[in-house]
Amino acid sequence: MEPVRCYIGLGSNLEDPVWQVQTALKELSKLNQCSLVRASSLYRSAPVGPQDQPDFINAVVALDTTLEAHALLDQLQALEQSHRRVRKRHWGPRTLDLDLLLYGTEQISTERLTVPHAFMHERSFVLYPLHEISPELIFPDDTLLSQLLVACPMGTLAKI
Ligand code: ATP
Ligand code: MG
Ligand code: MG
Repeated sequence: MEPVRCYIGLGSNLEDPVWQVQTALKELSKLNQCSLVRASSLYRSAPVGPQDQPDFINAVVALDTTLEAHALLDQLQALEQSHRRVRKRHWGPRTLDLDLLLYGTEQISTERLTVPHAFMHERSFVLYPLHEISPELIFPDDTLLSQLLVACPMGTLAKI
């Protein structure tokens, strides 16, 4: 199988979020059948949903992989588990969130996986880091990343 260019969004707002994200970047670079292409800077942003939780640290990486999409999701979820992530409430605080944003030009809709990620086009903490590492990116439906950015204010997002 030819490697597929993927994009993964990282987020953390518990237990030293900068450390969580930096460690996850190293772990992603060591995943089997994957090679890290580029990593964005780290960004800080106010939480989506419940506001009574710490700010998030976010980043986005480009990864080339010969893993099938669901096998890649398995690897990402195993990494989340290894960071002792406990799912309590939806959009609540977490030590590490790894979302598969894009898997080549594929559109995937299964019980476990929606790609492109369902909310990525409206999230500044995804779009701006993505633009930093891949300014010319085009989505599977031919939307330009640069067009989405125009409609998505940075809000509280800041590079750290
Ligand atoms: P959001 O999806 O709004 O960013 P979240 O990341 O907090 O929310 P999680 O608790 O991490 O949500 O994941 C819930 C479920 O979403 C997972 O069990 C996973 O199967 C499913 N899922 C669907 N599409 C994706 C995707 N593209 N990347 C990661 N998980 C996905
Ligand atoms: Mg998420
Ligand atoms: Mg997630």
